[in-house]
Amino acid sequence: MAAFGQEFTSLMAFCRYQDDQWQKPSLTTLDDFKLTPQSHVLHYASTCFEGLKAYRWADGGIRLFRYQDNIKRLRASAKALCLPIPDEALLDDMIKQAVLSVSDEIPDLPESLYIRPTLIGTENNIGAAGKASKEAYLYILTSPVGDYFSGGIRPLKLLIDEVNMRSTPTFGQVKTGGNYAAALSSVMRAREQYGADQVLYCPQANVQETGAANFFVLHKNRLITKKLDGSILPGITRDSIMQLAKNQGFEVIECDFTVDELISWLPDSEAFLSGTAAVISPVGEFIYNNKIHAAGNGEIGQQTLAFREQLTAIQQGQQSDNFNWVSQIQ
Ligand SMILES: *Cc1c(COP(=O)(O)O)cnc(C)c1O
Repeated sequence: MAAFGQEFTSLMAFCRYQDDQWQKPSLTTLDDFKLTPQSHVLHYASTCFEGLKAYRWADGGIRLFRYQDNIKRLRASAKALCLPIPDEALLDDMIKQAVLSVSDEIPDLPESLYIRPTLIGTENNIGAAGKASKEAYLYILTSPVGDYFSGGIRPLKLLIDEVNMRSTPTFGQVKTGGNYAAALSSVMRAREQYGADQVLYCPQANVQETGAANFFVLHKNRLITKKLDGSILPGITRDSIMQLAKNQGFEVIECDFTVDELISWLPDSEAFLSGTAAVISPVGEFIYNNKIHAAGNGEIGQQTLAFREQLTAIQQGQQSDNFNWVSQIQ
């Protein structure tokens, strides 16, 4: 299987917003897609997206994980970008159609179908820097993806960055291309200069998240992550892990915490990242002021692995879905 994000199915669901309304959605091939060079999105970054997965369980049925939450978040992102907000019913229908139309291209477990709903402003108007796009495309791409860690799971190394920001204090909660563009050069520099895998953004020493994943530290019995305040993405994996942990008696704490606090907890901690693509990625080391600080012994945390196994077991139908997170669509 191709690397994550580079292989696509034959069809996508597509819908145009024009004349102040959403038109009838259709299924199209990817090369049917036409965009003009004057499109609002190409100049003023009116774009947002989602990421979720469909699984073909061992019983042959196709399931989505918490997709209604992705629908809500896409609508919130659309609002923040002043794009036309697709109705919940339209998104629900298009996501299901996109998956069902390629049902024979969904790989078996532990592989899955990554779903990428995307909304872009397409008005042909380069004079609209300070105006909302009156036209838009909504499309649902799907991409067969392998087990993220098929090549083996290894602990990540994060660079603690107190200078750069990945977004702004209020736009960090929006899943929009501009945030990745803003973060990219600091991520590249962290890789080249420090051999880090990712940057942990900590503006004014306030620990936030990495470029595309939420951050957790498990200090003894306390599972700690930054509270949602607009500056970080409200991850659905983040929320799922908090619910799982609470249910198992961990003390789950959403709060602001500093780099110094994080460093002081690390010797008796595990640390990890969360997001749909990788689910949970263990963090072994932090680079801060040119020093290395290990989480615990720097190896993969046992509880981190347990959370990962529990969550993927629910997603893949090997553990009962007590939280009602899974929807069968076929
Ligand atoms: C998508 C994303 C996440 C993870 O969100 P999930 O809903 O768990 O996939 C976290 N941080 C950023 C910046 C993201 O873009």
